[in-house]
Amino acid sequence: RPHPGLPPQSGNGASGSGVDWNRVRGDFPLLAREVHGKPLVYLDSANTGQKPAAVIEAVDTFYRRHNANVSRAVHQLGSEATEAYEGARAKLARFLNVRADDLVLTSGTTFAINLVAYSWALPRLEAGDVILLTRMEHHANIVPWQLVAQRTGARIDVVELLPDGRLDLDMLRAKMTGAVKLLAVGHVSNVLGTVNPVADICREARKRGIVTVVDGSQALPHRPVDVAAIGCDFYALTGHKMCAPTGTGALWARREHLEAMPPFIGGGEMIREVRLDGGTVFNDPPRKFEAGTPNIAGFVGLGAAVDYLSTLGMEHVEAREQALLAHLDEEFAKVDGLRVFGTAPGKAAVVSFAIDGVHSHDLATLLDLEGVAVRSGQHCAHPLLEWLGVTATCRASLAFYNTHDEIDAFIAALHKVRRLLA
Ligand code: PLP
Repeated sequence: RPHPGLPPQSGNGASGSGVDWNRVRGDFPLLAREVHGKPLVYLDSANTGQKPAAVIEAVDTFYRRHNANVSRAVHQLGSEATEAYEGARAKLARFLNVRADDLVLTSGTTFAINLVAYSWALPRLEAGDVILLTRMEHHANIVPWQLVAQRTGARIDVVELLPDGRLDLDMLRAKMTGAVKLLAVGHVSNVLGTVNPVADICREARKRGIVTVVDGSQALPHRPVDVAAIGCDFYALTGHKMCAPTGTGALWARREHLEAMPPFIGGGEMIREVRLDGGTVFNDPPRKFEAGTPNIAGFVGLGAAVDYLSTLGMEHVEAREQALLAHLDEEFAKVDGLRVFGTAPGKAAVVSFAIDGVHSHDLATLLDLEGVAVRSGQHCAHPLLEWLGVTATCRASLAFYNTHDEIDAFIAALHKVRRLLA
């Protein structure tokens, strides 16, 4: 069923131009609030996204009507909860174009990447092996590999960036030597907005027998993603940036890896039979990696978020955000002393910036008083900030529920704040 904001003839495949975005915005109750007496302008969606009423209501209804634990009880509520939880896995699988049985539900990307690090990499890597990362990775796609390197003696090597924030693909190819066992790369940078050509990268890696881990945290909320077509070995994602509750996410993995990997966390549900003589038999994947009671209501919300985004159409979402980004870029070009970090062609609507002589935290604090929420700091990407040669940036990150009026309000606030700080 198309979203009511879509014109009746459009379905999911039409261009973004026919969508009633004001109506879509009305789906997000929080966006109607004020902050410091000013209408909220929320430009921090790369940090976490806002939730449509459909998601909030799905969680509410779950607790009011269906709450029970999953996969355990034979009573009615138990089967309703299990159906809702597994239904969310199936919806997410369709959204990604993968099989539901190859999707491990996790608390987010951080857990998903750690699962690969501890279950796939730790038992396999050894001294002399290389883990290849890129300069633009989020800490969640760096630190787990450093922990693996420390324990195994493997070495970390880094692919650097071109001045506009694209990956240096020649360097990447040159560094894919026989010693490289694993390549971890972000799909979209949370600081620069760069969209990496992950399908090409994974194809090259695969030819050389290198296992690939793609961090999809910043891609899935903003563009159609076909994980099967990317051809990676692992794809990690987080729900809270894509309209879903916090504490939800997933790891998609090739079946052969899921079958070969030992469990990461032990406990209930991940076993078929527990024997005190040590002969415990594990469940099949993905349940082998889902010990304990999961965030059931959160995943019900994730299912609702996937439904919501699917009826809107991710191609509409992408077109909308690109239009907002073009508007922001145009206005930013007129602000004296403003520097944008990351200008790669086709970038996503994440804009890190700084203003000469103004500290990013001061800027963000004063913008907040104007009702504008931007993030300031290092964005969990210290190595990237070091490369940019700055200690902090401000980051305005857009979502389809933002409006052109909000961009104008943000720019007006920026001029006002700049006058105060200059
Ligand atoms: N990777 C990227 C690119 C991110 O932007 C984030 C979130 O900030 C993460 C990983 C970590 O996601 P989570 O904290 O939801 O596990």
